Amino acid sequence: MRGDERTNEVPIIFLTGASIDTERTFQGYETGAVDFLMKPVPPLVMQSKVAAFVALYLQRKSLRDEKDDLERLLRANQRMAAELAHAHELAVQAAFTDELTGVPNRRHILKLAASALADPRRHSHPVCVALLDLDHFKKVNDTHGHAGGDAVLRHFCEHIRTHLRSGQSLGRVGGEEFLLLLPGTELADACTALERVRSTMGPTAGISFTFSAGVAQARPDETLDCVLERADDALYLSKERGRDCTSSELMSL
Ligand code: GH3
Ligand code: MG
Ligand code: MG
Repeated sequence: MRGDERTNEVPIIFLTGASIDTERTFQGYETGAVDFLMKPVPPLVMQSKVAAFVALYLQRKSLRDEKDDLERLLRANQRMAAELAHAHELAVQAAFTDELTGVPNRRHILKLAASALADPRRHSHPVCVALLDLDHFKKVNDTHGHAGGDAVLRHFCEHIRTHLRSGQSLGRVGGEEFLLLLPGTELADACTALERVRSTMGPTAGISFTFSAGVAQARPDETLDCVLERADDALYLSKERGRDCTSSELMSL
């Protein structure tokens, strides 16, 4: 009976005509008895024994059902918590990411840049920022349609991302304007890195395009706005110089 799940919890009372000795009684309990009685057993005693064991059995069964329910609830709760954590992670990521290109959005890249400038190690490590702007992008859109322009923006970001070293970040600050953050890089090295990215930028889906860049190096205790203003001046100079080039802040002095 104990081996069969349909009967394994049925309370078993042993009735015996033989005299009860301790060892036999113990054997009875060992094999799964709940009680061990000597015949004759008065009917009232039998009735109350059976009633007590049935009540005990029902109590145990209801406890087990409650435990099953609780375990089910716990599992559902764990599933919901995992889904919520995933949704939260996606929402956080979406709040930081530009939907079209997948790079950090304006808010996020400006925050990264501000943190790089606030880094106490900055006094021994230079920080450069570059502003990048696609050239005659209105014309790209006019010629190839808005979808063509979007493809260019995605390709532009993808290409630059493949050139980024650890700690460097590219973010979209406006329609076709981007900020490249280069911590631990001197102005001259930043210009060289940008020239490498610019000279290797190829067309996408048959659409050729170029971009201009302006680079500035943060001075000690300078605010982000100040260094961005000098990068913007350098970018303006690149446009003046005929576009498709990189200018450093030193050139725009
Ligand atoms: P310049 O060389 O002086 O920078 O000229 P430009 O035409 O690139 O500059 P302008 O600021 O006149 O035009 C920017 C264009 O970028 C206009 C706008 O429609 C386009 N643009 C901005 N955001 C997006 C976008 O998400 N997708 C597409 N396809 N175009 C965009
Ligand atoms: Mg432009
Ligand atoms: Mg622009």
